[in-house]
This record gives sequence, structure tokens and C-alpha cells, in this order.
Amino acid sequence: MGTQGGSEAAAAESFYPSDEDREKWMANAFDMARDALENGEVPVGCLMVYNDEVVGKGRNEVNETKNATRHAEMVALDQLLDWCRHSNLDVRSVCEQTALYVTVEPCIMCAAALRLLNIPVVVYGCRNERFGGCGSVLEVSSANLPQTGTTFKCVSGHRAEEAVEMLKTFYKQENPNGD
Ligand SMILES: [Zn+2]
Repeated sequence: MGTQGGSEAAAAESFYPSDEDREKWMANAFDMARDALENGEVPVGCLMVYNDEVVGKGRNEVNETKNATRHAEMVALDQLLDWCRHSNLDVRSVCEQTALYVTVEPCIMCAAALRLLNIPVVVYGCRNERFGGCGSVLEVSSANLPQTGTTFKCVSGHRAEEAVEMLKTFYKQENPNGD
């Protein structure tokens, strides 16, 4: 890559994850979601990819850390920030070229963070009916909000049924009597 120039739209286009990328990185994100499930966490896995390199990855750590903000995306973001520091690269210019892959639609909090960091594209599996920030509850991803970073594109539905099944399995474990 490395060819600059052209319109912003062209840049965003060249950046759009290919089917092959999606398969590859989402498979990775799903592995992490499964690891979360096996460790008593809400099964969500996330990967941040810059220049075909994973610069951040994470899965939910809310129960383990007793910190309700430790969503997969937040864990991955922290790694990306560390990676930028170690690589001596500017956070903004890295984020502007980073795609985020996550098994479940980012929640409102995470979607806002991704806006603030100017992440241009998010690929996700299933919708997040309770907290989704990319259209399910609020449109944080695309709303015209001044001074809150940039909007980002979403590519949804990749292995969505599988992502939903994992969530169902988790909630069944949490509440075995169901309702
Ligand atoms: Zn979140």
C-alpha cells in the first residue's frame, strides 16, 4: 500500500476490508470470544488491524477485573495505544488506518471511543440489541455530532448466528433457570 493522494473517499475505499480479510480477522475475533465464554465473560472478541498487522486484540474482561468498562474493544484499544508508543507512531495517523473487527456490535461507550480515535471502519458479527451504538440503540457511529471525532462505517452480519449463539450460551449459564 502506501499510495496516498486522491480523495478522502478513495482512501476510505482502498481501506475497505476485503472478504478475505474479513474471514481471516473475524475467525481470530471469534476465537477470542470463545475464550471469553470459557472464562465466564460475555463472549465478545475484538481485533484491531493496521497495515495487515494486529496492533490490538482483546476479549471481555469485565468479570475478571470487576470493571464494567473492560469491553473487548477497550482492551484492544489499550494495546493499540501501547503499540503506537513502542513503535513511536502517532496515534491519530495509526487509528485513521485501522480497522476494528468484533463479534458483536460495539456498545454506545465503545462506539463513542472509536469515534474519538477516528477509527474509520468496524466489521462486526451480530447486533447488540441492549447497548448497541451502531444503530441498535443509538447511532453513535453515524450521527452528526460536532467535536466528537469522525463517523465510521460498519460492515455487519459476519457469522452473526454464531455470535448470537455464544451470547445465548453465556446468559443461559448465568441464569440456568431461565425465564
Ligand atoms: Zn462496549
